[in-house]
Amino acid sequence: MTKVMAIANQKGGVGKTTTTVNLAASLAAANRRVLLIDLDPQGNATMGSGIDKRDLEITVYHVLLGKKSIFEALMKSEVGKYDVLPANRDLAGAEIELVEFTERETRLRDALALVVNEYDYVLIDCPPALNLLTLNGLCAAKSVMIPMQCEYYALEGLSDLINTIRRVRASLNPVLEIEGLLRTMFDPRNTLAQQVSDQLQAHFGNKVYRTAIPRNVRLAEAPSHGLPVMHHDKSSKGTQAYLALASELMGVEENPVTA
Ligand code: ATP
Ligand code: MG
Repeated sequence: MTKVMAIANQKGGVGKTTTTVNLAASLAAANRRVLLIDLDPQGNATMGSGIDKRDLEITVYHVLLGKKSIFEALMKSEVGKYDVLPANRDLAGAEIELVEFTERETRLRDALALVVNEYDYVLIDCPPALNLLTLNGLCAAKSVMIPMQCEYYALEGLSDLINTIRRVRASLNPVLEIEGLLRTMFDPRNTLAQQVSDQLQAHFGNKVYRTAIPRNVRLAEAPSHGLPVMHHDKSSKGTQAYLALASELMGVEENPVTA
């Protein structure tokens, strides 16, 4: 059974794209068949996978609007060893153009159905908004991974996201569940971060991944080289953390990074 996961949080800059790219590469390194779907007009996951968004003629935009088939749009991250349904700024127009369509929230799910069985994991990088693109991600997915920074306002934003997930489950996608909460840019020596992390665990229990992603400069550098971090610096803490997260997801925990 393919695991289709949306990586979502309407808060910007929390590590959604970093998580999508590096988890895709880590799962591919474990010989899993992975598709990364970039649902953000910023195209950061596309660039971070080593695909130049400026050169693209066919993207997820054309697939959502039914102008091209998903087969025509799929690309390969040569270095990451996973497939990519890429995005660029064309996608910014989709929101308005999709309004004419009925069933506009399930366009991605319908397109994905043609290829989903080819993969073990499909990871969908959502934009920082609870908009129609994110709704398409949530309708296509079976679960949601929520990356978050352990800061004061993090919990407030979480309730809006959880309400949206509930609404989608009630109306459009009854199987949708929260896959897990991922602590990103985490520093256990920071007292506030530790307090927020404790609150998260008290509230969400084992929905909080044991693996936490530390703040690591290699993770921030890697996208400028168009590389997942494991192909930029194999021994970095960022590489180890995302490999541990992949292991946790696959249910084999050789080196869990706990915090
Ligand atoms: P957006 O909401 O704009 O899509 P995002 O949630 O996808 O943002 P990222 O783009 O993954 O977030 O990360 C935001 C910034 O923080 C980027 O510059 C990224 O390189 C950096 N970053 C992400 N995770 C880490 C980390 N663990 N350590 C250091 N830097 C990180
Ligand atoms: Mg992003």
